[in-house]
Amino acid sequence: MAGVVFWFRQDLRLHDQLALNSAIEQAQRLGGWLLPVFIHEDRFQTLTPWGFKRSGVFRNAWMRQAVHDLSAKLQSLGSTLLEAEGDPVALLTETVRALSDPLLSDPVLARPLLVCEEIAAPEEQAQIEALRRHGVTVKTIWQSTLMAPESLPLPPEDLPDRFTSFRQILERHGVKAAAPLPETKALPPLPAGSSWASLRASFRASLPSAFGVVDNSSPKKPPVQIDARSAVPWDASAFSHLSQYCDRGLPHSYKATRNGLMGIDYSSKWSPWLATGALSARTALAAIAEFEFVAGASDSSYWLFFELLWRDHFRWLHLKHGRRLYAAQGLNQAPKPPHDPEAFSRWCLGETGHPFIDAGMRELAATGYLSNRMRQNVASYLIHDLACDWRAGAAWFESCLIDFDVYNNQGNWLYLSGRGTDPRPQRRFNPELQAKNYDPDGAYRQLWAA
Ligand SMILES: Cc1cc2nc3c(=O)[nH]c(=O)nc-3n(C[C@H](O)[C@H](O)[C@H](O)COP(=O)(O)OP(=O)(O)OC[C@H]3O[C@@H](n4cnc5c(N)ncnc54)[C@H](O)[C@@H]3O)c2cc1C
Repeated sequence: MAGVVFWFRQDLRLHDQLALNSAIEQAQRLGGWLLPVFIHEDRFQTLTPWGFKRSGVFRNAWMRQAVHDLSAKLQSLGSTLLEAEGDPVALLTETVRALSDPLLSDPVLARPLLVCEEIAAPEEQAQIEALRRHGVTVKTIWQSTLMAPESLPLPPEDLPDRFTSFRQILERHGVKAAAPLPETKALPPLPAGSSWASLRASFRASLPSAFGVVDNSSPKKPPVQIDARSAVPWDASAFSHLSQYCDRGLPHSYKATRNGLMGIDYSSKWSPWLATGALSARTALAAIAEFEFVAGASDSSYWLFFELLWRDHFRWLHLKHGRRLYAAQGLNQAPKPPHDPEAFSRWCLGETGHPFIDAGMRELAATGYLSNRMRQNVASYLIHDLACDWRAGAAWFESCLIDFDVYNNQGNWLYLSGRGTDPRPQRRFNPELQAKNYDPDGAYRQLWAA
């Protein structure tokens, strides 16, 4: 084969990169080159059936920042991230064709191999199937869970649906998370020749000016105006944020503060970096283990592992149930959900008339982030109080959240809708009671009153 094209998907990092490591090995074995590629996918810039853009301003900005950081790292290793905007299937097929080796007579060997991480969500799986149908040889690698698939006591399709049973099985079998891999320090060379030069020029030309070209000399600045009330430290890097969180001893207070609503420190705020893959879950867990080694383990530090296990759970559920997680009825036979477009629109705008819910929806729209407590409250309110379709809420979260993660978002919405794996069929949060318990002095409602 001619060489390897490595497609970065939700793994925008060089550390703990099983997929990239495998691509490097393949490239070295083939004596060839490695070309890193990122596609700004046009499907995210289309309108959802609910009438708004699939990826909103903050999500776009966070992603652009992550791609920018990755690009700078690749450049520091003497490589280049090839970026384009469009449909990955068309663009990657074109890339593989353009970089085929004309001197090799066997058409399969002449074509570069495409390597990428495996994503078990329906659209992402359909992309891989389409690439294969177009004659591209694709190797996908599973890498986004704490536990490696081969360490599970059962194949993913036989794991229990309920989180508690899933956790207990892992504990009973003593399953441990895989250790994170060290950062990649060297990359094979880029392809050479005129086909590479023209591909590069055509990919650049397909980028709207908004994506810009990486300028590593400019100081890091978020590509969007950040609300001073935002709970996410936009200008931190994944590693600086992770290490300051542990250095300040916050894992020991996590369990007591995790239901907080305001400020940066009440929860880890790792999710925005986990979502782009700029931080791997295994690296985050290794940081907790190191923290526990130095500062001692506590129920609270364990709870961060517990929450990361939820993240794993929703990933394995995708491998088990696939598209069924996306159907209106979810995993059960309940009637299709009702929907009220006018109530949904008020919910999105933070104009339901309920001050606690409206505060949450305003924070989400103004910052692209929301605490777990408020996510549960606003989702429950949409489903149970406004009688709207849970899929519309999931789509609005997808548009707004900088930490949008296809598995976590779908899994949590389905869970709260009572059509997923929640043992309780009706998980309605009483907003009055919730406001009383979690915003007793009204400070949160005051903060987002306008
Ligand atoms: C309706 C709804 C939609 C959600 N959508 C997303 C989403 O798109 N992306 C996303 O990352 N999380 C989502 N979550 C889960 C959770 O709210 C966020 O992961 C969390 O608030 C992120 O902040 P943090 O990193 O400070 O979390 P912490 O409380 O510090 O938790 C540490 C990490 O554990 C994981 N985690 C925590 N809670 C959950 C959970 N309930 N499900 C899965 N993983 C969890 C996350 O990776 C998180 O970063 C959703 C929750 C709800 C109720």
